[in-house]
Amino acid sequence: MPPLNLRIPGPTPLPNEVREALSRPMINHRGAEFKAILRDVTAKVQHFYGTQNEVLFYTASGTGGLEAAVVNTLSPGDTMIGVEIGVFGKRANTIAERYGVRVIPYRVPWGQAADPDELRALLRRHPETKAVWLTHNETSTGVTNPMPELVAAIKAESEALILVDSVSGMAALPLPVDELGLDVVVSGSQKAWMIPPGLATLSVSERAWAANQRCTAPRFYWDFAAMRKAAREGSTAFTPAISLFYALQVALDLMLQEGKEAIYERHRRAGAWMREQVQALGLRLFADPRHASDVVTAVLPPEGVDPDELRAQLRERYNIVLAGGQGELKGKIFRIGHLGLFTQDELQAVIDGLREVIAARVSA
Ligand SMILES: *Cc1c(COP(=O)(O)O)cnc(C)c1O
Repeated sequence: MPPLNLRIPGPTPLPNEVREALSRPMINHRGAEFKAILRDVTAKVQHFYGTQNEVLFYTASGTGGLEAAVVNTLSPGDTMIGVEIGVFGKRANTIAERYGVRVIPYRVPWGQAADPDELRALLRRHPETKAVWLTHNETSTGVTNPMPELVAAIKAESEALILVDSVSGMAALPLPVDELGLDVVVSGSQKAWMIPPGLATLSVSERAWAANQRCTAPRFYWDFAAMRKAAREGSTAFTPAISLFYALQVALDLMLQEGKEAIYERHRRAGAWMREQVQALGLRLFADPRHASDVVTAVLPPEGVDPDELRAQLRERYNIVLAGGQGELKGKIFRIGHLGLFTQDELQAVIDGLREVIAARVSA
């Protein structure tokens, strides 16, 4: 059996250097050593975000980061336009609703990206909008939103805060936070950062800090102000996931060695290659090709074939693990992850494996 080829859109495989870092002994999280690590990773994460904004770290999965973005900027009764192009956009809207935010969903058929003109028209109809929620890369459908165009549409029409879920996009796909003027941008450690799940990062703009001061939503663990106060003293408000900080520091150095632009280029090529190869197998892509994601490829199975059965066969025969569909796409598509750590051979193995299991399935 070949080694595990984990090709899901997070958690991603870990570089050996990261796995070693994870086994280091604990340190005092209020001591000088942790302070130095936090300072170092903060500057390097800011580099990948393209921001001078404060970056906060929470011990949480990505969803915790989404909740933190909501409860620190929006008060009960505030209006938020939630751009929903898949499972994760829908989740953000649900979180906001739970906290009493009046959510105006902008629902786009799954597989499509949001349209800047439609978003602008919606903002014009709702001048009371306090924030717009955007998903940068919608992992469930394999679609990347046209962020510069959507942001320009929002800014042309409104002063609304721009809150962004870039959990699976940041550090793999370009999203220059300050150049675009994004207010809160959430990412998650198990995606392009090549470390295990458990660390959510958020950048917070000056406008978002102003909103934070006025915001009356209940919060304790997620409170930005408490986290900022701790960060300025070189620590975190609560005990950090120390091992993940070791891992992140090592991963960031690997990422810097490769270079931000080279990382974007590697993902761009992987995405284009994967889409071409999948189609050459006679399979159809789920995402609108104009907005297909370069970190995850969503694929429709051959007619009459259960995608989950294809995945089970790949797993059994070749030790290749792909992701299934989520939400209403469960049992309808499968997804190939190509983000963070991957080699061309590993991507080739996915295509070779798919060719074999499809041939076997069709001739059976
Ligand atoms: C992975 C992911 C999340 C967060 O999911 P968790 O399971 O909570 O880490 C949020 N948004 C997007 C787009 C994601 O890909």
